[in-house]
Amino acid sequence: MTKTKYIWFNEKFVKWERAKIHVLSHALHYGSGVFEGIRCYETLKGSAVFRLKEHLDRLWNSARCLEMKIPFSKGEIKDAILKIIKLNKLKECYIRPIVFYGYGKMGLNPKGAKIDFAIAVWPWGKYLKEKVKVKISKFMRLHPKSVFPFAKVSGYYVNSIFASLDCQKSKVDEVILLDYKGCVAEGPGENVFIVKNKKIFTPKLESVLPGITRDSVIKIAKDEKMEVFEKDISAKELKNCDEAFFTGTAAEITPIYQIDDKIINGGEIGPITKILQEKFYKIVHGEDEKYKKWLTFVK
Ligand code: PMP
Repeated sequence: MTKTKYIWFNEKFVKWERAKIHVLSHALHYGSGVFEGIRCYETLKGSAVFRLKEHLDRLWNSARCLEMKIPFSKGEIKDAILKIIKLNKLKECYIRPIVFYGYGKMGLNPKGAKIDFAIAVWPWGKYLKEKVKVKISKFMRLHPKSVFPFAKVSGYYVNSIFASLDCQKSKVDEVILLDYKGCVAEGPGENVFIVKNKKIFTPKLESVLPGITRDSVIKIAKDEKMEVFEKDISAKELKNCDEAFFTGTAAEITPIYQIDDKIINGGEIGPITKILQEKFYKIVHGEDEKYKKWLTFVK
């Protein structure tokens, strides 16, 4: 991780080294925090945060699941995000807002613990390789009746960590987790898409996070007059696809060239993936007027 100068922490701009919490913070023990991963890109008209409104809406929805009352308004957090990027003099960066039950309460009911809110920003280049080799994980994605799948809760990520640790042992770049029905769910931090006979498919929102990149790709593909379907995808359908790719704020659009022993599209990025990837990069860099509404300029 590339260190930057300041972190926004409970309304103050504090030095990176000083953004500290107590060891008895509730979220450290039980995962009772919610967070976002957002990107800011350089454009010809200055730096711009991609789909900030949608990320803040998801953060507030996540907090609601933990019955957490965020002591700031969305407007205040939006301003804080834009200010912390400016203060750290970053043109492009990854943005990590996290709000969590802090110090003051032990036991599983977090009510009564202090609510802490931090926003860190740092330069973060490519999260995954240009194209990736994946395996289907032995770990199942969290059951939708065990958690709120639409929320981005810190504790959920232990499921992703188990899957990621296992994938490192198998010498693949990333994993795909199946859901409780044995259908494709998502990567540890990415949504999954496949292309078959020029049609695009992605798992419906049952066991997966409603990714903002997923939503962007669906909208872009539809605008390009491509057919997109949200449906259950079996492991067999996954392996028999013509193209496959991950989407995510960190991963952006990353082609998948191998799934277990099956090579996809001769090991190369597929034509539809390429169109979507190029379009996506243009949009995030402010080169497509039609999608300007997705950008919030830092100024
Ligand atoms: N699924 C999971 C489990 C994730 O952590 C992420 C990253 N936030 C995604 C999907 C992709 O979501 P987004 O496009 O909003 O980053």
